Amino acid sequence: MSWASRRRERWGGAEPGARYYRYPECFLKQKAQTELNSSDPRATAPASPPRVIPRAEHTVSRSQISPNALRVLYRLRDANFQAFLVGGCVRDLLVGLEPKDFDVATDALPEQVKRLFRNCRLIGRRFRLAHVFFGPEIIEVATFRASSAPEPGEEPIEEEDEAEEADLDGDETDLIDQAGPVTEGRAARFEAEHSARETLIDADTERAFDATGRILRDNIYGTVDDDVWRRDFTANALYYNIADFSIWDYTGGAEDIAARRLRLIGDPETRYREDPVRMLRAARFEAKLGFELDPASAEPIERLRSLLGGVPPARLFDEMLKLFLTGHGARSLPVLRRRGLLGALLPSTEAYLAAHPGSLVEQLLMQGLANTDARVKAGRSVTPTFLLALLLYGPIAALIEAMPPSRWHELSAILDACDQAVREAQRHLSIPKRFSLGLREMFALQPRLEHPRGRRALRLLGHPRFRAGYDLLLLRAEFGLANPERAQWWTDLQAAPEAEQGPMADAIAGSTERTAAQKGRRRRRGGRRRGAPSPG
Ligand code: ATP
Ligand code: MG
Repeated sequence: MSWASRRRERWGGAEPGARYYRYPECFLKQKAQTELNSSDPRATAPASPPRVIPRAEHTVSRSQISPNALRVLYRLRDANFQAFLVGGCVRDLLVGLEPKDFDVATDALPEQVKRLFRNCRLIGRRFRLAHVFFGPEIIEVATFRASSAPEPGEEPIEEEDEAEEADLDGDETDLIDQAGPVTEGRAARFEAEHSARETLIDADTERAFDATGRILRDNIYGTVDDDVWRRDFTANALYYNIADFSIWDYTGGAEDIAARRLRLIGDPETRYREDPVRMLRAARFEAKLGFELDPASAEPIERLRSLLGGVPPARLFDEMLKLFLTGHGARSLPVLRRRGLLGALLPSTEAYLAAHPGSLVEQLLMQGLANTDARVKAGRSVTPTFLLALLLYGPIAALIEAMPPSRWHELSAILDACDQAVREAQRHLSIPKRFSLGLREMFALQPRLEHPRGRRALRLLGHPRFRAGYDLLLLRAEFGLANPERAQWWTDLQAAPEAEQGPMADAIAGSTERTAAQKGRRRRRGGRRRGAPSPG
């Protein structure tokens, strides 16, 4: 069977593969803590008071806000702190989407936040954030950031606070065990990667930049009107004030949301240089919100996208998951390609798609992403392993098909191709081992699924990757890249009572032996094996 191109015969359509695995909960709940890089674009935007949009003039209602976020806001307010909902949640509520999570910004310092909430943990070293835990929900509380506030060193920044975990009830401790180390691991990795770079310190703001203009350190607390200029897009810079339920708008974000426009705050080139990930965020919000990227914010991307090469691969991997596993993956792919950004994440995938426009592999990828989006929307599980299998399908198929056709179904050929494709992807993305191993197993299962060997095939049903391998087979069969009858056989086998599975396996063994014998006869009669077909 060809990996990338339809065989000569056309099969009918099979059921689309639609069962993937669960992506760890902590990803969706946990904020990327690496850094909230921002700048002070007040050099280009005059400091002015916000436009205050009273409750009667906007649509954000408390009934749409998570009760736990409201609890946090009220408690801060009652302790005489300012407390705002900010960022994506306000934006999403204004466009009628359900927010993924709720972020709070306050003038309370992290330690003050911690004193207010028993179920609270401070994370991060340079800039501390408070995570307030409510069962599975985490409300992130960030102190306003600014350039003119006390140095981070003056803040009480301790390492892991042992007492904190003891404060918490059983459930919550479980959750911290999941969320904490991942977050801190990322931050530590980020710091380690940057400590070696050339660093320029701006004496006035005490910010550290690398040679490309990217902010490396910026950890100081300030006021709401400092905080706002450090955010990325105007649509992400609206503050919902719990004191009177108004929205504060410093940057014209409300107007931009109404116009469905995505606009960077400040000078776009400077903002991308400070944090090149903002280019990926632009693509993500274009895809997620269907907003149009303002031409001035779009223009520098082509020139600056190579800066993504300097971003820690772990952060790029996180961004990739946000692009493809949060319900709008099928829209993210064309946006990333249009902006020339897919190559910054997965150059071999971009190269394959560019070389084979409209190929079956591209169709398989788009269908797989659409299936994944449908699962996310239905609240079902999705997995980075399956996503990687989709995204690397083209490069893997190309590597396999570059070998002689007689090797296409050899396990060693398939594994070599997977390893090489993953190695190439690892140059930009830090792919955790469990996902790359899972991908390998999914591909290794394909020939075993395509050519079940009698009752031994039944053992595959208990294989830890069976489900993912079977889903990939269904998808391949849908596009004629695997035999749909065989895919259907696996579907029927799973539905059959146990007593019938053995005879089904015997029957399929007979039929595959017959097919092999027929092929052998054809070859003996002088029929040549077909060479590697051109992909797509
Ligand atoms: P969503 O959660 O829907 O993916 P979001 O806008 O909430 O989108 P987050 O990554 O959760 O995105 O960040 C929360 C807020 O923090 C953003 O809305 C933005 O104001 C700010 N922010 C996040 N990352 C950056 C960045 N790299 N540069 C500047 N501001 C940022
Ligand atoms: Mg968010």
